[in-house]
Amino acid sequence: MKVYDSILEAVGDTPMVRIRSVSKQVPAEIFAKLEFMNPGGSVKDRLVRYLLERYDEAGALTPDTVLVENSSGNTGAALSMAAAVRGIGCVVTIPDKMSTEKIARMRAFGTRVVVAPTAVAADAPESYYSQARRIAEETPGAIYPDQYNNPLNAAAHYASTGPEIWEQTGGRIDAFVCGIGTGGTISGVGRYLKERDPSIRVIGVDPEGSVFHDQFHHGRLSTPHVYQVEGIGEDYLVEAVDFSVIDDIIRVDDRSSFLTARRLVREEGLLCGGSSGAAMWGALQVADRFPGGRIVVLLPDSGNMYLSKFLDDDWMVRHGHLAAPTAATPQAMAAVAGAE
Ligand code: PMP
Repeated sequence: MKVYDSILEAVGDTPMVRIRSVSKQVPAEIFAKLEFMNPGGSVKDRLVRYLLERYDEAGALTPDTVLVENSSGNTGAALSMAAAVRGIGCVVTIPDKMSTEKIARMRAFGTRVVVAPTAVAADAPESYYSQARRIAEETPGAIYPDQYNNPLNAAAHYASTGPEIWEQTGGRIDAFVCGIGTGGTISGVGRYLKERDPSIRVIGVDPEGSVFHDQFHHGRLSTPHVYQVEGIGEDYLVEAVDFSVIDDIIRVDDRSSFLTARRLVREEGLLCGGSSGAAMWGALQVADRFPGGRIVVLLPDSGNMYLSKFLDDDWMVRHGHLAAPTAATPQAMAAVAGAE
């Protein structure tokens, strides 16, 4: 049995699982890459492990280092975990639409979390981007990874996520479907897969309200608006996205994202987040293009972070995504009825 020197070494090598029920109606096989199996709970552990390796090579980390980052909560969690292991400081700014679970998780590691308004322009002084930049400038010993504009972001996925997917599929893959947040995952994995086999299609999923879809299809920046799904979409054009490795971008709404994620939980046993539902919904939309083919969908994070949101029936009803709370499964209901 393998023993690691720290939890950071347990990042990566995540399982890939065949989707059996949710994909029943489509003509392609779908495989899910389970990034919520990373120790910090998301795909972002990979970025942070890669960053730390680079910082260590450069001798940049000292006992006085403070990691400062803007995050929708997953990069922040991964940095918090790393800071705990290394005994250094961590400050994360996060928009106020993100779940309380994500904020609590970072605070549990000892991180200072600054909650910023969601509905402000990216360049407004109170935005979570501006606040992180300012805190980094004002904090002695600060390192600001700036994941939205850092080429190491995509490089992390080129180095680990891409090769794992290639190996797990034995190179038999027709399409890769992935949500776009910073764009690090799709850019790094997309580049790796296309270098191995240029016929692989790379398809991004972008929530309604984000700017990537219109930028990709029409070359113009649309006016962003707030949406509920967390971790994907952006309100300005970030540098980490490499459009040259993306073949198509599909637009998804909140309700489709949440309902599909809930199906992944209930029908596949995959306790995943809303952006996982968005990516899977995108894969179901494009599956007709790959009859008899194989699609890999990346599931970025865990449903544990959304138990008070879209995985809560009352929340879904309150936000108009469900007409009524869903009961337990018929099998579970029958068991209770039998016991009464
Ligand atoms: N889903 C979730 C839940 C995320 O937190 C993120 C990261 N923002 C993504 C998807 C998108 O990943 P990336 O930043 O690599 O595009």
